[in-house]
Amino acid sequence: MVGHGPTGAIAASLLGDKGIKTLAIDRQRDVYDKPRAIAIDHEILRLLDNLGAAERVLPHIAPFPASQHFGARGQLIRRIDMVPEPYPLGYTPSMVFTQPPVEAALRAHAAAYASVDVQLGTELLGFDQSPDHVTLHLRDDRGATRSVTADYMIACDGASSGTRQALGIGFEDLGFDEPWLVVDLLLTTAAPGKLPETAAQFCEPSRPTSFIIGPGDHRRFEIMLLPGEDPREMEDPAQVWRLLARWITPDDATLWRAASYRFHALVARQWRQGRVFLAGDAAHQQPPFIGQGMCQGIRDVGNLVWKLDRVINGQSGAGLLDTYAAERQQHVRQLTTRIKAIGHVICERDPVAAEARDVRLLAEGDGHPRTVTRQEIVPPLQTGLLAFPLQPAHGTLFPQPWITTAAGRRLLDSAMGTGWRLVVDERDPPGLTAELMADLTRIGMRLIRVRSKDAADQSGHDIVAEEDGVLAAWFDRHDCRAAIVRPDHYVFGTASDTRALGTMLSDLATRLQ
Ligand SMILES: Cc1cc2nc3c(=O)[nH]c(=O)nc-3n(C[C@H](O)[C@H](O)[C@H](O)COP(=O)(O)OP(=O)(O)OC[C@H]3O[C@@H](n4cnc5c(N)ncnc54)[C@H](O)[C@@H]3O)c2cc1C
Repeated sequence: MVGHGPTGAIAASLLGDKGIKTLAIDRQRDVYDKPRAIAIDHEILRLLDNLGAAERVLPHIAPFPASQHFGARGQLIRRIDMVPEPYPLGYTPSMVFTQPPVEAALRAHAAAYASVDVQLGTELLGFDQSPDHVTLHLRDDRGATRSVTADYMIACDGASSGTRQALGIGFEDLGFDEPWLVVDLLLTTAAPGKLPETAAQFCEPSRPTSFIIGPGDHRRFEIMLLPGEDPREMEDPAQVWRLLARWITPDDATLWRAASYRFHALVARQWRQGRVFLAGDAAHQQPPFIGQGMCQGIRDVGNLVWKLDRVINGQSGAGLLDTYAAERQQHVRQLTTRIKAIGHVICERDPVAAEARDVRLLAEGDGHPRTVTRQEIVPPLQTGLLAFPLQPAHGTLFPQPWITTAAGRRLLDSAMGTGWRLVVDERDPPGLTAELMADLTRIGMRLIRVRSKDAADQSGHDIVAEEDGVLAAWFDRHDCRAAIVRPDHYVFGTASDTRALGTMLSDLATRLQ
């Protein structure tokens, strides 16, 4: 593991959770002490919860309130919010966090695994690979050099990844390049009068600006820089307070960080060469408009590590690893394209075009501001290890209901475990034949049968009673009675009867070989 930022630290924990011998290095000894990413979503919290790391980060996390978008005349033109309760994955769907303490918690979690060796102050100088291993050349911060050999290398070495450059991998540029100033503040007074009460996008052509309410006293402004403004000069505190004067003054807050930053939309053309994988900012960069920068990187390693585990343990051939790049590259490209489109709406600098934009957005809601959820902006997987022909549920995140157990209310994953799962709707279950059960064993898949908490009690270690009808509604919406769920919680396929389910399972067993 090269790089121990959020992507690398979570990858190390995922590998440690599987008991895979892992060396995690970073050339910096300490976490970067200023916040960068600020948003996290329920998919990532589920992954952290599966690792037992959620408790460590929750003190630094808060709900992400609706973001109100104001048009050229200050009128509300759109809201971007989260899906309502009952929440599909059991957690608040969109959250904000403060990066330095969360990164520190993630590092502490990774270091606690017996199979993970974290060596900070260690830099990757270069690497060579052969068909069966990778050799990494390292130097510690006392100047000592050495080489280590690994089966695979995951490069989470950030936006200017030396690994990506050494492999000669370029970026596909999705066409976004805007200079912004990112300002983090710590409030010193309880209620600065003019701050918006919720998150906001001021889509004003004179100076587009975002406002985000972070956890506790943390507040962020992201401010577009205008042609002719020098990004370095605009970081000067006097300039920053001038830009913020409309909302807040030094009497109300201290300035934590002001950094100019180019918002790009870039996706690596290749995500793997031989035994080396790119993940996180090393593989992609995106504008922060719906707060998916860090989430995309964590999704990468959530996708990669269970596949590496199967290949390293001889359960699957190396071909499974090809699905990493195929799945994640397409997903990132599609999500980044959507984020970029939101960015173009926000960044409109032509007053006439901005007026037209406001009219168009309001017309989309029949004259009222429409609410779009952050969750509908994140696309499903559409290629790779999925059952074809694709149905709408295939490649989406499988929900996680609260279930009633003898020990109290629990989330499904913590009660029943993760890995490959066949989840069956007990209201009208497909018959589970001996042949079908044999395929489950071959794949190493667990069976979970779901009933409503109000349905007649049925006994069985694999039966769960869900509280809020989240899964019943999901099965009805997708007109199916069984779902095959991957270890990363994406739906491989859905079926309504035994025959379709059997065909899907034997196809999966073959593809996993
Ligand atoms: C200045 C800045 C501002 C940002 N602002 C925002 C924002 O406003 N909103 C948002 O969503 N996202 C933002 N981001 C992006 C967000 O922080 C990233 O998406 C997230 O941190 C990516 O995590 P990562 O682990 O992939 O990479 P990083 O956090 O960059 O971690 C990479 C790690 O690799 C290490 N490393 C690099 N090369 C080597 C080497 N040769 N040997 C050993 N170690 C190495 C580095 O020391 C670093 O710790 C910002 C990023 C930066 C840099």
